[in-house]
Amino acid sequence: MSKPTVATIWLDGCSGCHMSFLDLDERLIELSAHFDLVYSPLVDLKVLPSHVDIALVEGSVSNEDDEHKIKLVRSRVQTLISLGDCAVTGNVPAMRNPFSVDSLFDRAYLENATLQQQRPTTRVPALLARVRPIHEVVPVDICVPGCPPSADTIYTILTELLAGRVPDIAALSRFGA
Ligand code: SF4
Repeated sequence: MSKPTVATIWLDGCSGCHMSFLDLDERLIELSAHFDLVYSPLVDLKVLPSHVDIALVEGSVSNEDDEHKIKLVRSRVQTLISLGDCAVTGNVPAMRNPFSVDSLFDRAYLENATLQQQRPTTRVPALLARVRPIHEVVPVDICVPGCPPSADTIYTILTELLAGRVPDIAALSRFGA
């Protein structure tokens, strides 16, 4: 029988939530007996399969690429998990929301540059006017707060889901897992 499939996805975040996933250390070896990691920045497989059982998604939705990717993820993933405060609330990336995209580009590429002041025009995904948590763009099944959520929390969530149970996120937060 084939194992459940898992993906990890990185939108607008700092990679800290993925580092927390890696902090599972030897427990990753234990877990790998129970699922196949089919798409992730951590593996060579870079094409999202047409069906994935569980996806852990780090980061908020900040640009057009993020928006396209999370909609594709939602259409192919059975259980979508918003992993970490950036995914759940917008957190640090959303700190730009009080400012217009134009004013941010002026500040970054014109006012603070001493050489070759110019806005990027190619190879940069267009920023959305407002950074949004994932659940504002697509339905999310489980929200896991934390900056980042601990490896223990991620371990508990994965083991519960792989056992066919719904993890009690409120209890995990209460006990600081
Ligand atoms: Fe980084 Fe924290 Fe955002 Fe995770 S929630 S991507 S650790 S800033």
